[in-house]
Amino acid sequence: MYRSHNCGQLRMSDVGQTVTLSGWLQTSRDFGGMTFIDMRDRYGITQIVFNMEDNEELCARARKLGREDVIQITGLVRERSNKNPNRPTGDIEIEVQDLSILNESKVPPFTIEDETDGGDDLRMKYRYLDIRRTPVRNNLIFRSKLAIETRKYLDGQDFIEVETPVLIKSTPEGARDFVVPSRMNPGQFYALPQSPQTFKQILMVAGMDRYFQIVKCFRDEDLRADRQPEFTQIDCEMSFVTRDEVLATFEGLTKYLFKTLKNIDLPDFPLMSYDDAIRLYGSDKPDTRFDMHFVELNDVAQGKGFSVFDNAELVVGINATGQAEKYSNKDIKKLTEWMQRPQIGAKGLVYVKVEAGGTFKSSVGKFFEEAALQTWADKMGAKEGDMMLILSGEAEKTRKQLNELRLEMGQRMGLMDPAVYKPLWVVDFPLLEWDEESERFHAMHHPFTSPKKEDQERMLNGDHETMKALRADAYDLVINGVEIGGGSIRIHDRALQSKNFDLLGFTKEEAEEQFGFLLGAFEYGAPPHGGIAFGFDRLCAVMNGVNSIRDFIAFPKNNQGRDMMIDAPSPIADEQYDELYLKGTYSPETKG
Ligand code: ASP
Repeated sequence: MYRSHNCGQLRMSDVGQTVTLSGWLQTSRDFGGMTFIDMRDRYGITQIVFNMEDNEELCARARKLGREDVIQITGLVRERSNKNPNRPTGDIEIEVQDLSILNESKVPPFTIEDETDGGDDLRMKYRYLDIRRTPVRNNLIFRSKLAIETRKYLDGQDFIEVETPVLIKSTPEGARDFVVPSRMNPGQFYALPQSPQTFKQILMVAGMDRYFQIVKCFRDEDLRADRQPEFTQIDCEMSFVTRDEVLATFEGLTKYLFKTLKNIDLPDFPLMSYDDAIRLYGSDKPDTRFDMHFVELNDVAQGKGFSVFDNAELVVGINATGQAEKYSNKDIKKLTEWMQRPQIGAKGLVYVKVEAGGTFKSSVGKFFEEAALQTWADKMGAKEGDMMLILSGEAEKTRKQLNELRLEMGQRMGLMDPAVYKPLWVVDFPLLEWDEESERFHAMHHPFTSPKKEDQERMLNGDHETMKALRADAYDLVINGVEIGGGSIRIHDRALQSKNFDLLGFTKEEAEEQFGFLLGAFEYGAPPHGGIAFGFDRLCAVMNGVNSIRDFIAFPKNNQGRDMMIDAPSPIADEQYDELYLKGTYSPETKG
């Protein structure tokens, strides 16, 4: 028997028992007569003690142990004189009577404690050591529980988990595909799913009614902290549902998960139209933990002789309450420079401080009289001590820039409390996006998304400009400025689907070639249906107030898409090129 208890289990009620533990040596402190060791396993840490007076030979062996050696001890549980209130096992320790070394460890390349000195790539290379650290381990335990509770909830709502294939053909989520060459079909390739979208719709045609899957998806995109080439979705589809029924189901799931895992009661999720989100926050994923919404000033700021504003499509500002005194001229200059960095690209930043007695101090003071500035303050609700920050220019760009400024100010003003969760549904997205460069429409969500009922007629009969204004029955769940997931009611009508493919620039043949199987299925009694997918890694991160989804993935890839531990991707053998008929394409040899 390797152990009678684990390293997180023993309490005062166990004092007097003889126990056996197995685990890793985390730290060792040698006080001459006594050696104290912290012994760790997945469940916790227990202090064990070797006493020179009791057993000299045993104590000498204990002193030779190194960090991360795997040991087994047997000893007597006793009360600690020097208790550690920060540890569940902190009231007791074990007086060791027997020690065996189960396996020795090399000196680890970084410290395996809550705070580590290991850099990212080093930690990823030795991820098995990193996972021994409590915060990383806890993240993986959280993830496991989240998956189990998701299954419980959806099972309770009659959802059926169906596994869909991984070797498929391109799915239309708008990213690049990862492809896999087929040995048995020379010159042909599978694509890894960007999502199970087409399969889950086919499952609705198949009468499954409610489907879900916690599923890996693959997208070959440029990487960021909150993106990985492979990631996990809670993917769902439902038949005979309206938008509001889909939203209610997944609002229910989200509330259940927050309650069960974090004991947080989320408020009801408000709905915000895409247009309002853009107008008020300059983003389709607004962080609504704080207000500071946009106020448009065209009517009060233009026509007063300040050409920068006069020539702008949009003049828009936010009111930073109570910030007037906190910002010296130098601070404002710095903030302006921050806005002018290429990542944001603002041309300038106008400020107006409301000072004592209702006077104003502003970078554009010489163009505007006090009375004019007062109208701005009225519009923005700015009071004494507040600072209005204003941008102008081309509407879309300016809103994006002001969104960055709003978030930065929210951060600086301490308004983004990680303990507060503000969910909302953003609804009524545009159906199509017009791309000036390629002079083409793109599907804002994906090509199977239905226009809103009231727009269907216009979609079938309208002109080009009408198409730009069509609204989709699509929705996103946003929490604290992070898009947790999105979905839509789907088209199940052949004529609408054909029109959509037309608009997206597919010829009949192309649509047939890529999606013929789905369109074919739709001819055999497709029920009205809709669905959604949550980013599972992201949900884990947001529920824990963390930015990086990597912290919740056991074996993540770095920014270059590399797995540092197994060193992938890697070259393949020449025979593999031959077998897969890839010669003549790119190989280190053929590249020359
Ligand atoms: N397949 C979509 C996505 O991955 C989700 C959905 O429409 O259900 O974003």
